[in-house]
Amino acid sequence: MIQKKQRYEPTDREQAFLDTVVDTKYQREIINGLTPFFDEKAPDDMMTFYSNDEVVSLKVLKGTDRDVESRMPVKITRHYYELARNSEAISRIVKASPDETGDLQGSEDPGHQMDYAPVEGLLHKYEMGLMYVISTCSAHCRFCYREELIARKEIERKDGTVAKKGLAQIPEIIAYIKEHNAAVEANGGFHPESGREKLREILLSGGDPMVLANSKIAAWFSALAEAGVESIRLGTKEMAFYPQRFDQSFLDMLDRFHETYPQVGLHFMLHFEHPDEILAKDENGNYIQDDKGFKQWIPATGEAMRGLVSRGWLTVENQAPIIKGINDDPDALRILQREFKRAGGENHYFFCGRDIVAYRAFNIPIEQAWNILNTSQKGLSGIENHARLSITHYKGKTEVAAVTNEPIPGLKGSENGVVIFKILRNAGSAPDRGKVCIVGRNPDALWFDDYEDRVLFDEAGLFDYSRVDKPGMAPSSLISGGLGTGCGG
Ligand code: SF4
Repeated sequence: MIQKKQRYEPTDREQAFLDTVVDTKYQREIINGLTPFFDEKAPDDMMTFYSNDEVVSLKVLKGTDRDVESRMPVKITRHYYELARNSEAISRIVKASPDETGDLQGSEDPGHQMDYAPVEGLLHKYEMGLMYVISTCSAHCRFCYREELIARKEIERKDGTVAKKGLAQIPEIIAYIKEHNAAVEANGGFHPESGREKLREILLSGGDPMVLANSKIAAWFSALAEAGVESIRLGTKEMAFYPQRFDQSFLDMLDRFHETYPQVGLHFMLHFEHPDEILAKDENGNYIQDDKGFKQWIPATGEAMRGLVSRGWLTVENQAPIIKGINDDPDALRILQREFKRAGGENHYFFCGRDIVAYRAFNIPIEQAWNILNTSQKGLSGIENHARLSITHYKGKTEVAAVTNEPIPGLKGSENGVVIFKILRNAGSAPDRGKVCIVGRNPDALWFDDYEDRVLFDEAGLFDYSRVDKPGMAPSSLISGGLGTGCGG
């Protein structure tokens, strides 16, 4: 890992761009933690977010192993609170419950991600790198896959040291990218030690990068562009938590960035779980429609979405986990996919929950998640139904491609139907893309382990944990493929 302190000097072109950026002060009216509810210090109209009984049951856990806030800090914006008080689903996204610490099984660092951090704050597994640029969001989802980062927990590294996950810093990250890409170029397209290709795409993640000031986001964008990164993604749930953040000063920064670096792709990976996060409701809880039957977006959210999609040179995609009691509902997912596409976005992935600490409180069985998404897509057109169900195997990003109800004739173990997994991406140049794994059904399965005794066919190697993809590369079993229930890609 590169540890030495580095300096970073912007180029003249970069500095000229940065000089145009304006920062705005935002009033998110955030409530941090449960203490304002315990001590009746939250604004009067927000105090009812937790009932007296709920306050008592959460207070009693304070300081114990089951303290919900030490697992995942509580945080909510005024905008999201207004949505939550009219929506059970939205409320469950951000409202702490004693149930979440009833069973603390799970991993602090699913996929041992820290093993793949060549520089603090950067995960480099594919041709794409992921950076932690901030350790908080405007509000916090209870099911977040990044709870260890947001709660600032100490994680054990490969070398046995224990430390909090650090955040990416421009000088060190840019030095690493330049060094890696120079070595790749000098070696005919592959890194001489890791076998990886050019690091050409970077995902800004966290936490939520949209919590940063425009000038900080701009500094990342231009430094990455100057380092030769071809495509930048930004993973964010800010359009749900505080859509006013996508204001003119932010859009102006995007425009100046595009004018300065027109060759660099920019992709917003939004995170909406439920249509209640985007659609306006009447006092009876029904979505407001106009006289032609068009559902109306929440004004600020619609404006934020228009601000992005009207810039044809960037893309706007949605991805979200399917979580128990929140969006495990085909009708809700159908509306969400239809409306997001109508507004000009693309439906990218839905995720099965990962094996985070306390995952049993949030995850639904894999086969149920597939059925919910599949049912939701029955009412969608071909351009609306692009989203796939992804599950993040340690080997790489994997699609839950099909679940059958009928046995496969002659195939022992398929009597109750099968589940077909397909590898979408794995380490290096995705050598196993398209390979499948077929297992006998287990309707209760929450994770791959629950299929271990019923593997029927496994050319994908999902149940063969000792393979090595290429000389010099880590065993594929240890390489985590994506972000699961956090934000990002
Ligand atoms: S899921 Fe995304 S928005 Fe929610 S707390 Fe985690 S990183 Fe933040």
